[in-house]
Amino acid sequence: MTADAMGNAVVVGAGVSGLLAAHALARRFDRVTVIERDEFTDGEAAFRAGVPQSRHVHVLWSRGVAALNALLPGVVTDLEAAGAVVIEAPEQMRWLSPAQWFTGVPGSHYLSASRELLESTLRRRIADRSTITIMARHEVTGLVPARDAGAVAGVRLRERGTDEEEFTLHAGLVVVAAGRSSRTADWLHRLGYATPTTDRFDAHLGYSSRYYRRPAAEGGWKAMYVQGNPDLPRGGVIVPIEGGRWLVTLIGQGEHQPPIEEKDWLAFASSLRSDELSEALTDAEPLSDAVAFRATANEWTHFERAKRWPRGFLVVGDALCRFNPVYGHGMTVASLQAQVIADQISAREPVEIAARAREMQKAVAKCPQAAWMIATGEDSRYPGTDGPKPGRLGKMQQDYMSRVLSAANTDPVVSEAFFAVLSLNRRPETLLKPRIALRASRRRT
Ligand SMILES: Cc1cc2nc3c(=O)[nH]c(=O)nc-3n(C[C@H](O)[C@H](O)[C@H](O)COP(=O)(O)OP(=O)(O)OC[C@H]3O[C@@H](n4cnc5c(N)ncnc54)[C@H](O)[C@@H]3O)c2cc1C
Repeated sequence: MTADAMGNAVVVGAGVSGLLAAHALARRFDRVTVIERDEFTDGEAAFRAGVPQSRHVHVLWSRGVAALNALLPGVVTDLEAAGAVVIEAPEQMRWLSPAQWFTGVPGSHYLSASRELLESTLRRRIADRSTITIMARHEVTGLVPARDAGAVAGVRLRERGTDEEEFTLHAGLVVVAAGRSSRTADWLHRLGYATPTTDRFDAHLGYSSRYYRRPAAEGGWKAMYVQGNPDLPRGGVIVPIEGGRWLVTLIGQGEHQPPIEEKDWLAFASSLRSDELSEALTDAEPLSDAVAFRATANEWTHFERAKRWPRGFLVVGDALCRFNPVYGHGMTVASLQAQVIADQISAREPVEIAARAREMQKAVAKCPQAAWMIATGEDSRYPGTDGPKPGRLGKMQQDYMSRVLSAANTDPVVSEAFFAVLSLNRRPETLLKPRIALRASRRRT
């Protein structure tokens, strides 16, 4: 590879993880090219087919907010100026947990905005850097091996909507951030690498979402979350987003899939564990039809366990690990991975960065651990969940977590720790500390 090509990095996918990874890489690479199969509408916050999940509630937990601001100082102020809302949870919400309502307890905060606004704001900030190019309407079709086959030396790609031939872009580092539908394992297989294992827990959770005009008087709360539980696995969320709107998502598991038909929408909302959500919607004006999303399994493809790993290659974001979205962790994990990349490449030359790809893959793969533990631990409570069943220890942990949750509903000490974990600010083991265990042990589940 020429010295010129070694100074190039290619990122596949301009979603949240791709944009943030590109931003981190631009500190050490002469040129970063982000290849995105979709077209963009001039920096506007608009829906695009490559990110179908963007029409559903997307919250960024406080750890992600901090990571985003550390990577791109001032970006949260930009988002708020554009209409994003920071919400103290549960203080500024009505939140019915799988046990009871959270009442008078402190927690953490999250940023609520449409996923489109979040992405377009990041895109604008990142495209400002002269060394980053976003190549829209191009689809990556595979990887290019280096001559010695021990490295990835670039990608094959084609322009969409034209008859142009595929061509090659050489790079010292290729980062795949192509999301849930990524073909990374196939691409590696074609280069002679073993197929990595994928752990999977599927709670068969479905989303159905639509926009409403945000009413002038909001009844003393900014957002509402009525969660389901194993007795009634149906829930709903209302969050404020830019443009004076609410984004409302109904959630159901297994046979409780939420409808998209107008006539059934409010009926489903009325069937939750509380009437409060449907009452809030009764007089609100819908601004759109509902759309569904069903591919919500937790899946972790363990690239970090590969015995052989090519130099110059990294996988991040949903392409590496995707979560049941109901816990709201994917974008926070993507932000943490971008911070890890920034640390890992700091003070290193591109050739050295490419040589350390395996260590970097292991480092970014640590970021999903806590979110994975939370999502799969909770999902495996539901009998319809496909995946490994909890053993005796797992059941004891679930029982303990039920007590913690029940205590968190009304006990400020437990609530603070519970939300520190849920927002990924502290490790889940925090909840095993004696002062939490003592308070939780007094609760009935
Ligand atoms: C219904 C739903 C709700 C969610 N809610 C939340 C939430 O509340 N909070 C939260 O933190 N996370 C949430 N998530 C997760 C979140 O969407 C992702 O974790 C996050 O966006 C990171 O994704 P990504 O950038 O890795 O992939 P994506 O956002 O999927 O982006 C991948 C990009 O790669 C492009 N691409 C794919 N293949 C190619 C190719 N071959 N060539 C070129 N480009 C390609 C796609 O067009 C797309 O732009 C939710 C997910 C779902 C499904």
